[in-house]
Amino acid sequence: MRIETTAVHAGHVPDPVTGAVTPAIHLSTTFERDEANALRGAYLYTRNDNPNRRALEECLTALEGGADAACFASGSAAAMAVCQALEPGARVLAPADAYYGTIKLVRDVFARWGLRLTLVDMCDLDAVRAAAGPDTRLVWIETPSNPLVRVVDIAALASIGRDAGAQVVVDNTWATPVLQRPLELGAHLALHSTTKYLGGHSDVLGGALVTGEADAFWERVRGVQSTGGAVPSPFDCWLTVRGIRTLPWRVRAQTENAGRVAQFLHAHPAVEVVHYPGLASDPGHTLAQRQMRGAGGMLSFEVRGGRDAALAAIGRLRIITRATSLGGTESLVEHRASVEPPESRTPPGLLRLSVGLEHPDDLVEDLSQALGGAGSR
Ligand SMILES: *Cc1c(COP(=O)(O)O)cnc(C)c1O
Repeated sequence: MRIETTAVHAGHVPDPVTGAVTPAIHLSTTFERDEANALRGAYLYTRNDNPNRRALEECLTALEGGADAACFASGSAAAMAVCQALEPGARVLAPADAYYGTIKLVRDVFARWGLRLTLVDMCDLDAVRAAAGPDTRLVWIETPSNPLVRVVDIAALASIGRDAGAQVVVDNTWATPVLQRPLELGAHLALHSTTKYLGGHSDVLGGALVTGEADAFWERVRGVQSTGGAVPSPFDCWLTVRGIRTLPWRVRAQTENAGRVAQFLHAHPAVEVVHYPGLASDPGHTLAQRQMRGAGGMLSFEVRGGRDAALAAIGRLRIITRATSLGGTESLVEHRASVEPPESRTPPGLLRLSVGLEHPDDLVEDLSQALGGAGSR
């Protein structure tokens, strides 16, 4: 099946009792036993499992081409479950430009558990090889990256990680399984903040891990999920499945819109540089063409004049909304240096744009008036 069909059907059959085509929401936290004390169905207690969570997990397993999936209350809770499945003393290799919450999690929270973090530039495979020592238990990959939208070679990094005996995790939040399937490229696990493109409507928080193999590490992750209980509610799962039904078509349109916006910004005299692997001039272009089926809906650009010019430009926007997060139907813009810690190396004039489903002409016109019209076409 093609991904459009999988997205529409995975994890669902019409209800055999009522014939309902759309799934019911099972809010019940507990499930009845019969006279002989046997459970009537496949469920016991909602922290362990629930029909809506199971539907979402089956859907994600199919989308990533994995063996199993585990859903969490947020992307960060999913990342935490990976850390909690590691042994004390384990070294985590991560890119310096990984999602800041992930770095903070390993460095600040799990340092006290004995996890050790090494940050490395994952565009430089030799540097990764040199950093992957015998105590490396986890290689964390994130591509395209935040906020410079850099692309790294998943297959090459996964093979370095596997050679070192480490678990290889790819945060696939930005690309989604529509554009990139990490398990096929050698990763053990794909991670999602389903809060972003999968939910897709900026109205539900969630996270997930999808595994290529139901191995011993995965059993530990499952144990953390059901014992720790950082699970999404049935309604959260239902909303996320509802979002996934249109995922491939949304991502395709967002990618098309982002391409239009990137071209416009690239030609604009008020813009110093555009970071978008869909542009032929971008350093990640060739790799993205090989590894991804489209460059995605995320881009960033640097406004000439730095911080003040960038903030003034977004202050003039009328359609594009100033807010953090990404992957929703509406376009969002964020001045990254304002939300990152003081030691961040993000250029002060950098703006990150999550391109939504508006008409691309309206987005280009909005950016054009905000940047001062000069150079608009
Ligand atoms: C948002 C995000 C996360 C964290 O997910 P939450 O659902 O906010 O906890 C992790 N990785 C990436 C790439 C993200 O964009």
